[in-house]
Parts: sequence; structure tokens; C-alpha cells
Amino acid sequence: MPLMLKDLTHNHPLSAEIQVARLEMMLEVSRKLHATLELAPLLRFVVEEAVELTDTEVAAVLLLDKGSGELYLEAVSGELVRPLERRTIPFEGSLAGWIVRTGEFLVVDNLREDGRSFSEIDQLPWFEACSILGVPLKFKEKTLGVLEVYNKHHRAGFTGDDIRLLHTLAGQAAVAIQNARMFEQSDEVAKLAQELHSPVSSIIDFSQFMLANSNVNTENWRVGLESVNREAVYLVHMVNNFLDLSRLETGRVQLQKEKVDLHLLAQEVLECRQSQALQKNVTLSLKAKENLPLIQGDAKRLHQVMMSLVDNAIKYNRPGGSVNVTLSGNQLRVQVAVADTGVGIAPGDLELIFKKFYRVQENGTENGAGLGLAIAKQIVEAHGGDIWVQSELGVGSRFTFSLPLNG
Ligand code: ADP
Repeated sequence: MPLMLKDLTHNHPLSAEIQVARLEMMLEVSRKLHATLELAPLLRFVVEEAVELTDTEVAAVLLLDKGSGELYLEAVSGELVRPLERRTIPFEGSLAGWIVRTGEFLVVDNLREDGRSFSEIDQLPWFEACSILGVPLKFKEKTLGVLEVYNKHHRAGFTGDDIRLLHTLAGQAAVAIQNARMFEQSDEVAKLAQELHSPVSSIIDFSQFMLANSNVNTENWRVGLESVNREAVYLVHMVNNFLDLSRLETGRVQLQKEKVDLHLLAQEVLECRQSQALQKNVTLSLKAKENLPLIQGDAKRLHQVMMSLVDNAIKYNRPGGSVNVTLSGNQLRVQVAVADTGVGIAPGDLELIFKKFYRVQENGTENGAGLGLAIAKQIVEAHGGDIWVQSELGVGSRFTFSLPLNG
């Protein structure tokens, strides 16, 4: 998308008094931003401050959704617009998409002359957009979204000063958004605590029973100890998964990239799960395109993804069913599909199963915390890939991930 960036060198320097007043104002804004820990009110505050600071008609915040990778219109200034908030904005054809991709700001002073239209403006139909200034919301090196202001009052053009102010506001807002998200995550910790409650209670009950009945026979001792052991292993597994996911989500995992042969990885995973499949009377098979290209990736992490998908395909299968792993690829990507003949997933659940802690109620007899697919998605996306699912209830599911050769 070609840009019309203004020549900002002709702006007059501001007097010292104005600069101090601005600084004081920004400090006040910053104080308020950091005092707001809930995302929705925080974003409203950001858009209201943005119109104030830049003397514009409307402001909007668009945020990238980590789960879906899509851009959402999250907040718009003014009273009229609340019911219209949180809409998806396509990357292609939106100013915000361009800003997120490049990490740069963008100014268009006269939209009508410019002739381009941007898809976020189509979502704000109650005013006529004449000019736009958009800046990225960056936290460290990561672009979280975009802050946009529309229509400088008195039909004036945007100045270098507007851009600097909006940049400063966006910088502060991004830190506050990240904080608010962390705060919201404490809800997830509550969910984890809930999940941990059941195995911990079992461990306590069994161990208390055994301590209180010192004369129980050896067989009962063994059964009791096995249960304690099983629950404790499950506990550690769940806590580790939770920690792993939060590290992946916050970008604290460094991928150890090397040339990876996915065909070999798939063979290892299937060998490893052979006895588990036998126990459930499920057959495993593997089909791979010849001379599948190697990819640049983290072998251990990709092994973890395949293991998760194969584990689920066995776990949610039926006796006598099968799991087929297929690898295909071209000069750009390699694709891995894990198909099963199991219980399937209802259409309404398909979008949700990649979310953490989400478990399909009807499949609930199986042990699990609902973290495996969320972790798999994070790993695949950290490689620049995609993961998706197709499924039919009662027929089976096919989970596919696709990775670029040089992700
Ligand atoms: P877990 O299996 O630990 O609950 P996952 O994140 O791996 O967590 O999966 C989330 C949910 O998606 C599962 O609880 C299950 O209901 C559903 N699911 C995953 N894989 C399959 C599959 N192959 N067939 C049917 N349902 C599945």
C-alpha cells in the first residue's frame, strides 16, 4: 500500500511553556492509564484522550487478538458507538493492518483526494472521514494494535506535534494494555486453582485413609498408592502445561531452530504412542509425500504439537477406530494432518477448542485440562504457521497444521 507521509520538518518548534504544559498533561494521562486495570474502561479512556490531545473528531483502538490473529475494533470515542464496538477488521485494505505489519505510523490528510478507502472506516459509518492519523500500539518490540484519530478539527492538517503526542499516548497505552491483560490473566490462575482442586483432594483423601488404617492389606495399600501417584503425576503435568502456555503466550520461549524432518518426527510420535493405541484398540498409520522438504523449526516443540494431536486422536476415538497422519508439502510449506474416526466435535465448539481451559462437555469423561491445543496453537504460530480443525460429530476430526519451510 503506497503511503502519503507528510513532510514533518516544517513544523514550528513549541515554546517552553507549551512543552511543559504538554508534559504535565501526558504525566497526568499516564498516571490515569496505569491506574486502570480493566481493559474496556482503559481503552475508552485512551480514545477519549486521543481526540482531546490531537483535537480531532473521533478516535479508535484496534487490537490484535492473540488467539485468532485477527484485528478487532475494540473502542471508539463518543457516546453513539458502543453497540458497534469489537468488530473484526480485515488486515488487507485496512490502515490498521498496514500499521501492524510495518510497525510505522501513517497519515492521510485528505481521504477524498487520496481516493483510497480503509475498511475500518466502513465500520464507522456515522461520520464522514476526511483525514486519518494512525500509530502502532507497541509494547517492547511487539505491536499490540493501532490507535487512530480521524478528522482534525477546522479541517486543519495533522502536524508533527500531533504525531508525537499520539505516539507518546500510544506508548503509554500499550504498557497499560499489557498490564490490564496480565491482570485479566489472574482469572485464569483462578481456573487453574479450580482444576487443581480435584486431584489435590484425591491425594489428601487417599493418603489420609491409608494413614488412618495402618492395618489395611497390601493390595489396598498398592491401589491407594497408585491413585496418589496418578493424581500427583497429573497435577505436575497440568501445572507444567499451564506454565508452558503462559511462557509461550508472553513470548518468553526461545525456539531452538534447526533443520527438522517432520516425517521422522511423526514416525517417532507414532512409535511412542503405539501401546496406548493398542490399549484403546485404535490403529495408527502414517502416509508421507516422498522427499518431503525439511523445515527450519524447533524439533522438540514440533514433536510436542504432534504428540498432543495424536494423543487427542487416540483419546477421543472409539474402539476399533483409526488415526491417520498425513504429511504433504511444496516448496513453501509442509502440512501435517492428524485424522481420527472418533467422536467428532460439534460446529459450535470448533472455534473454541484452541482456547485455554476449553473442553467439550460431552467429551468430558477423558482426563485433561484443556491446555494441549492452546499450547499447540502457540507453538505453530511461533513458527509462522497455522493450525485448524475440520470435524463431523460421530464421524471424526482432522487437525491440520501447516509450517513455512523457513518459519
Ligand atoms: P484436553 O484434551 O486436555 O482436554 P485439549 O486442548 O487437547 O485439552 O483439547 C480441548 C478439547 O477439544 C478436548 O477437551 C476435547 O473435548 C476436544 N478435542 C480435542 N481433540 C479432539 C479430537 N481429536 N476429537 C474430538 N474432540 C477433541
